[in-house]
Amino acid sequence: MQNKLINRCLIGIGMAVLLLVVVLVIRTLSFTAPPLANITPEPLDLDGRAIAGRLSQAIQFRTVSVQLNQRETQQQYRDFIDWLAATYPEVHTAMPPKKLGKKEGQEFSLLYTWPGKNSELPPILMSAHYDVVPVIPGTEDDWQHPPYAGVVDDTHIWGRGTLDDKGAAIALMEAATSLLKQGYQPERTVYISLTSDEETGGNGGTAAIVETLKNNGTQLDWSLDEGSFLLHGFIPGVEPPIASINVAEKGYLTVKLVAPGKGGHSSMPPAETAVDILAGALVRLNQNPLPGGLEGLSKKLFEAAARHMSFEKRLMFANQWLFAPVIESALEQQASTAAMLRTTTAATMLSASVKENVLPIEATATVNFRLHPRDSVDDVLAHIESVIDDERIKVVVRRGDSASKVSNDEAQGFRLVADTTQEVFGSVITAPGLTIAGTDSHRYQEIADNNYRFNPMLVSREDVHGFHGTNERISIDNMVKATGFYQALIRNANLHPQ
Ligand SMILES: [Zn+2]
Repeated sequence: MQNKLINRCLIGIGMAVLLLVVVLVIRTLSFTAPPLANITPEPLDLDGRAIAGRLSQAIQFRTVSVQLNQRETQQQYRDFIDWLAATYPEVHTAMPPKKLGKKEGQEFSLLYTWPGKNSELPPILMSAHYDVVPVIPGTEDDWQHPPYAGVVDDTHIWGRGTLDDKGAAIALMEAATSLLKQGYQPERTVYISLTSDEETGGNGGTAAIVETLKNNGTQLDWSLDEGSFLLHGFIPGVEPPIASINVAEKGYLTVKLVAPGKGGHSSMPPAETAVDILAGALVRLNQNPLPGGLEGLSKKLFEAAARHMSFEKRLMFANQWLFAPVIESALEQQASTAAMLRTTTAATMLSASVKENVLPIEATATVNFRLHPRDSVDDVLAHIESVIDDERIKVVVRRGDSASKVSNDEAQGFRLVADTTQEVFGSVITAPGLTIAGTDSHRYQEIADNNYRFNPMLVSREDVHGFHGTNERISIDNMVKATGFYQALIRNANLHPQ
């Protein structure tokens, strides 16, 4: 009798397992992508060595925006703007740029207006910033080629700004020049902005450009700016490159935590000093990150990529109702993918006593959060208060911006960027994504229906180490393709006016 019962139980369990396997397999088999468009790009009639030579010259101007208070840096900016005018005379004759900025004498951001034949059509904007971040002191000797020498070898242009974002600025100038030489005039107005202070938040130059367009009553159909690349080898198991055309960027919140102390001599410390109170708060913040998970834009990006994976990996993504925790814990392993899942918390600056034997009268920490679109600034502030849970600590907001709006990944602008990428680079995956840092686009959202963030350049994991880091470089082939891309995008945008 008992044996029969056990047998029935086993059969029941066996059936359940079989059913589960069938469900998993069926879901996996239907979780595929249509084959990538079999596109062989037309060869581009562009002189790569000549373009590389001009980018090399651009790199040699030290347009470091964080040093803009220094006279020498301001002179570098002026020299760069003069060099642009001399190097791209066609562009500067056809569309002399407006020089814009907040401070007098520092109007370094450039807005070019290429008037369209049909003023009824909504204009578009293509943007790149030409300011750069400094070379981290002490790392100068780690560079294979000096950061501002603009060395060109057989395959690459080396130096600060090649990837971020002078390469794109130069490719835009090259594309406009090439089209002008062909006698091309766009159907709809095209704005090109080369901004001068993106790396310091854009509150001078980029803000002035937005103000100018707003005052003209300009509403753009879409804007295209930096924010991601054509990524190769970033997601294990996916061979084709992925064009992550980002439709949103994370927000930004910086708070200063202030813990009080009584001061005094360090030979007679109280049970808890200002530093101890602050350290406790920082540990609690670190151990209690904001809730997150694979959803929204990050989910769209990974699902688009996962459809091209092997059966075993697809099995996980096709059955997220069962495997979501496994996928998420794998994504948590890498800082760059973990950042796509949630609002991140990073303590960056600390201060306390001024002398080793003096107890602090206060200890402070600066903590920087990058906000996922699901969390508002107020949500994060409430999280900070509840996690720290210590009334002695003051939380002072230094800067708070929620995430950008999420642009439409089905609108015409998105399709144009995706199709043009395939036209120039061949068979690649295209998907919407989320930019985990900040870009000028958070300002452009005021004047554009949609903002897209993508540089048409194929990069590997190794290449992105140069981004704000050491040995920044871009291939000559990428510069040719980026120029070809911007050229084709301007043409394509006019073939299908709305
Ligand atoms: Zn940048």
